[in-house]
Amino acid sequence: MNHNVKNYPIAKLIADFDGTVTQKDTISSLVLTAAEHRNDQDDFLERWEQLVQWYVSQQESNVGKWLSAPMPEKHLIDFLKSFNPIEQESLLRVTRHKFLFGLTKHDLQQLGRNVLKRKGVANVLKELQASTVEIEILSANWSRTLIQSAMGELCDQVWTNSLVFDDFNKSTGEIRQNVTSAQDKLSFFERYRSKVGKTLYIGDSITDFLAILSADIGVLIGNNHVARQVIDFFEIPTVSVTKKQKYNPEIHQSGIILLVDSWSDLEDFLRSK
Ligand SMILES: [Mg+2]
Repeated sequence: MNHNVKNYPIAKLIADFDGTVTQKDTISSLVLTAAEHRNDQDDFLERWEQLVQWYVSQQESNVGKWLSAPMPEKHLIDFLKSFNPIEQESLLRVTRHKFLFGLTKHDLQQLGRNVLKRKGVANVLKELQASTVEIEILSANWSRTLIQSAMGELCDQVWTNSLVFDDFNKSTGEIRQNVTSAQDKLSFFERYRSKVGKTLYIGDSITDFLAILSADIGVLIGNNHVARQVIDFFEIPTVSVTKKQKYNPEIHQSGIILLVDSWSDLEDFLRSK
């Protein structure tokens, strides 16, 4: 029995990284650092801005297409799959334009050290570790090194993508892909969830939804607008921890999303009785 985790004893916590552990997405900081190594910075950053705009507009129009009118025959899993071609095309463009070329491990470690984490996250993770809860990160980020550097001792394992390095230890611009979709997150989650006890998954966006819904305790953190729209559209049951909605641990089951505003809300939920 974990003495600090009274309400919902868990054996493992698996967390998304960007926007869940961190305050902001770290993807563009990778590209901005890569830009510092170039002598065509202005053109490079303009091309990057174009790609970001393209990506955002593709995402928005896909969300709009799906959620504009009630379509009861549509399923959450099909909705999430419909983002895969956008994600794949975006990864292709990132590689083709070498937006991640020339980064050193030192660059990535420094970026990781400078990442701003959400308030309270380090305390919660340390406390859980002290209660022998395993902590793992499951992320669609592009750099394992960045995440490892940001997390340090706060996690036991990182599941994500990696940049490819050449013989001189510089990134080639290619990405070794492991986790790029909601389905990938679900597969990793299913493979690595605790074999001995309950697993909590916490994420902030729709890419996390399948893992959240599969977890023993599935948590959505923050106020991601699309995530909230999707919950409403697909009528996914939720319980707001932040608003202290009554909730009985004995009847908890997968498929209910717990909504929290912060890591300290989650801490209160796990501990208090
Ligand atoms: Mg995220």
